[in-house]
Amino acid sequence: MNCQNKKIGIMGGTFDPIHIGHLAIAQEAVEYKKLDKVLFIPTGNPPHKTNKEKTKAEIRLEMVKIGIEDNEFFEIDDYEVRREEPSYSAMTMQYLKDKYPKTELYFIMGEDSLLDIESWYRYEDFLNCVTVLVAKRQEQCNKDLENKVNDLISKGYKVEIVPSHYLEISATNIRKKLKNGENPKYYLKQEVYNYIIKEGLYL
Ligand code: ATP
Repeated sequence: MNCQNKKIGIMGGTFDPIHIGHLAIAQEAVEYKKLDKVLFIPTGNPPHKTNKEKTKAEIRLEMVKIGIEDNEFFEIDDYEVRREEPSYSAMTMQYLKDKYPKTELYFIMGEDSLLDIESWYRYEDFLNCVTVLVAKRQEQCNKDLENKVNDLISKGYKVEIVPSHYLEISATNIRKKLKNGENPKYYLKQEVYNYIIKEGLYL
């Protein structure tokens, strides 16, 4: 990507696997904020999920590549996967600010991530670097989410709720279905689903 791009969305996540919930909120964010690009940055050794089993980073990276390949706004960055040590979003934002100095960064996340933001390493530094675009993950209006957004805004951070439809899809549920012999194929891009089946993942 060249430095002419002014607004970059960032979609960080484990992507174990990438599903249509991720793709849909990234697309909604592009349209809502007229983003020039969304960078998908899969975690290497995710600090938040160290106690859980996770699929090898190279495989998750491959699924993201397959998931985004037909969208001209979506790109992948393997920065966190390449690092040996755990990556924290605050550090990754610094890397992006150095790489794209004239660019505004918009970090796209689901409401569960925002509600948990204070547990992130150096979360204040992280929030100082970005505008957070948060997507709902449940149908009802979540008072906790509204309170959190207002609280962060009152502290001077930039946070907005993306006016998107919520999709009740999670990677956890997809993995569970595959393990139980159920079929999650309509929660995934067809090519990602085909890859999962070919590689025999999550059985
Ligand atoms: P898991 O179930 O394994 O925790 P996940 O489905 O939440 O995974 P992640 O890769 O952890 O996926 O999520 C990356 C980001 O995408 C997080 O900020 C998460 O909140 C958000 N996200 C994931 N699924 C959705 C969805 N259906 N709607 C809105 N945001 C989502």
